[in-house]
Amino acid sequence: MKASNRTATARCAKVAAGARLTPCRGPRLPFGRTAARRGGVARVVLEPTTAPAADAAPKTSVPSGGDPWEDEKWTKYKWTIYRGVAYDLTSYLGQHPGGRWLLNLAVGRDATALFESYHLRPEVAAARLKRLPVLEGFPVDAVPRSPRPNDSELYNTIRERVRKEVFKGTEVKGAHRSGSEGAALAVLGYAAAAYALYTYDANPLTGALLGLSGAWIGLTIQHCGNHGAMSTIPLVNNLLGLTNDLAGGSSLMWRYHHQVSHHIHCNDDALDEDVFSAFPILRFDDRLPGFWYHRWQHIYMWALFPFLQLVFQSIVLAATFAVSHNVPETKPLDAGPTQAALDQVSNERDWGVQQVLTSANWGGVVGNFFTGGLNLQVVA
Ligand SMILES: [Zn+2]
Repeated sequence: MKASNRTATARCAKVAAGARLTPCRGPRLPFGRTAARRGGVARVVLEPTTAPAADAAPKTSVPSGGDPWEDEKWTKYKWTIYRGVAYDLTSYLGQHPGGRWLLNLAVGRDATALFESYHLRPEVAAARLKRLPVLEGFPVDAVPRSPRPNDSELYNTIRERVRKEVFKGTEVKGAHRSGSEGAALAVLGYAAAAYALYTYDANPLTGALLGLSGAWIGLTIQHCGNHGAMSTIPLVNNLLGLTNDLAGGSSLMWRYHHQVSHHIHCNDDALDEDVFSAFPILRFDDRLPGFWYHRWQHIYMWALFPFLQLVFQSIVLAATFAVSHNVPETKPLDAGPTQAALDQVSNERDWGVQQVLTSANWGGVVGNFFTGGLNLQVVA
């Protein structure tokens, strides 16, 4: 069993007196599906009954509502769930200001955290969302519940301060999504030069330079483009996002892996796909079992990847992620309310506290330039 699953099981085992039975989060699964649906072992956990009443989903579903992902009754809709209510996004796909690719991330899941973490003015976005068709009788309870960022006082405070002190109202005009054209050209220019050099003379040095260009693209323009953050024009964001494919990845997979898994369940060792590595071949986590050959992994890791470009790209990206993101177990916290918050099951935790406590700032101005700002994971 992976350490992560052991940890999840350990958390599931935490029981409290006077508790109710609810499904526990299962082993790591891609997106929006439960272990029970995939034939996994269904588990239950006892949770305290002291959860705020406001957390309870509105009763818009019926137990016999069917399977949201299999029954034609529901699959004919582009359904999503926001705070316990199912909406049909079909008519809105072509109208979403952030473009269809971003809205697609919400289809087929509880998109509450996606929605609340993407919109700087959630009151405006929520008003538009609530004009969409509601799917009465939808089996909302069959869908894994998303975290609810707007329930976090910390998150709301940070967002309000960013709006007032950093953007100063410019988010209304979309200025916060532009202004990085020169940086984007620098990254693309370097990548073109490195590719030309490698094509002209393939050797370890030019391979390393090309690898660095892939990592630089990955951290900057593809990341921000796929987030819809480089421009107010979805086409520009999409084109910059496609540079992920140029660097050897898949922008389509990245959007789901990064935005749905990593951003929503940041540093959650059961649900964040970025927490996982190439174990058992490589071991970066001392909670995983150590085998005799790991003693030489710093040597043989170089031979595992046939292309120098991918070696350098992967190592640079892995190192960047390792310092930016910290699962709770690697960052000892004082016992108290914050640690207690992280001990809650995923969808009961304070979303803002989870994001801030398990992330880190590093690298200053230099790190800022080379990562497109990804070195600043916590608001300073
Ligand atoms: Zn991101």
